[in-house]
Amino acid sequence: MPGETKKKNLLGLPQGELEALFVELGQKPFHARQLMRWIYQRGVTDFEAMTDLSKSLRQRLAETATVDVPKVLSQHDSSDGTIKWLFESGSGQAVEAVYIPEAGRGTLCISSQVGCALDCAFCATGAQGFNRNLNKAEIVGQVWHANQTLPRRDNDDADFAITNVVFMGMGEPLANYRNVVPVLDLLTSDLAYGLSRRRVTVSTSGLVPNLERLGDEFNVALAVSLHAPNDDLRDELVPINKMHPIASLLDACWRYAEKRANRFVTFEYVMLDGINDSLKHADELFALLEGKPAKVNLIPFNPFDGNDFARSSAETIGLFQSRLRDRGLVVTTRKTRGDDIDAACGQLAGKVSDRVRNRLSEKNKRMATA
Ligand code: SAH
Ligand code: SF4
Repeated sequence: MPGETKKKNLLGLPQGELEALFVELGQKPFHARQLMRWIYQRGVTDFEAMTDLSKSLRQRLAETATVDVPKVLSQHDSSDGTIKWLFESGSGQAVEAVYIPEAGRGTLCISSQVGCALDCAFCATGAQGFNRNLNKAEIVGQVWHANQTLPRRDNDDADFAITNVVFMGMGEPLANYRNVVPVLDLLTSDLAYGLSRRRVTVSTSGLVPNLERLGDEFNVALAVSLHAPNDDLRDELVPINKMHPIASLLDACWRYAEKRANRFVTFEYVMLDGINDSLKHADELFALLEGKPAKVNLIPFNPFDGNDFARSSAETIGLFQSRLRDRGLVVTTRKTRGDDIDAACGQLAGKVSDRVRNRLSEKNKRMATA
């Protein structure tokens, strides 16, 4: 309506800002705590239903604020229990969240950006280019929606079906630091989702300055998308490497691990047939990680239209894994989940058109086939 001021969306607002809002309304700041429990723990978005707030306060809130959750475009249920949701993100685009149930835990994989600017050669999100950062409401809203939709667990005492949250959906979380960190706070806040910092993982392709900052400010679990054991190859697979090469990235990782009482950093390594999956690559990788608080997670490549990469064979992945394991490194291979609903990381939000290409230089193609 003309002249009407836009109502403030309270979803994703840090506790301090909510408290300030109540003070502005002439109220006591502790109402922020009540409101957070309503929104995140009980999933209530209608102020009228927040019965421990006074009638007049509820009315005041309804006049000035809203709790706007992201719009869900679709939900896809895989035969293996994996669930994918697509969320509307403007201009006909979507971002996605994926829930992966496993024995004793349920992991929600969430997105932080619409597209991604970092343009990793094997990534469908990168191929889409960068559109924009998600705001706090859009990021935490993925968790809000999944939590509302998922049945409560009746085994262990958790009443929350999501036991872990990983930023491994679309986008580079450390390129959207200003919105991601307040969401980390909500994920771990007792007034919201109450997860321990060990159970919230930021995955980054290596934005070193923000990685250092995260270590100082909000030390959650860390996964690093390494994908290559030398700068020559990594420059091509993960172009941000040209700005922050492996040595500086690993230095930052070890400092990060130290600040977390030497908890492990997980290194993700996508297995690309004939590109980075030889035993020589495994030996180089071992040399980088030997004696460090490092785990390796091998990810079978998820193919998508428009590039020439292929997934390494199960045999090659097995040999690569044993080569590292035999020398004492902790290595796991990610199980592919939700294949029937395109739910794998890097497969996101429908078919990607345009800019996909195979850009590996002739030099690295020759090295890979040598
Ligand atoms: N931008 C962050 C987090 C999102 S991507 C990052 O790069 O770490 C989550 C993981 O999926 C990353 O390790 C990424 O490299 C990997 N990935 C991207 N595309 C993939 C594909 N097609 N197949 C397998 N893994 C892929
Ligand atoms: Fe971006 Fe991560 Fe994809 Fe690289 S792998 S393009 S950083 S989303």
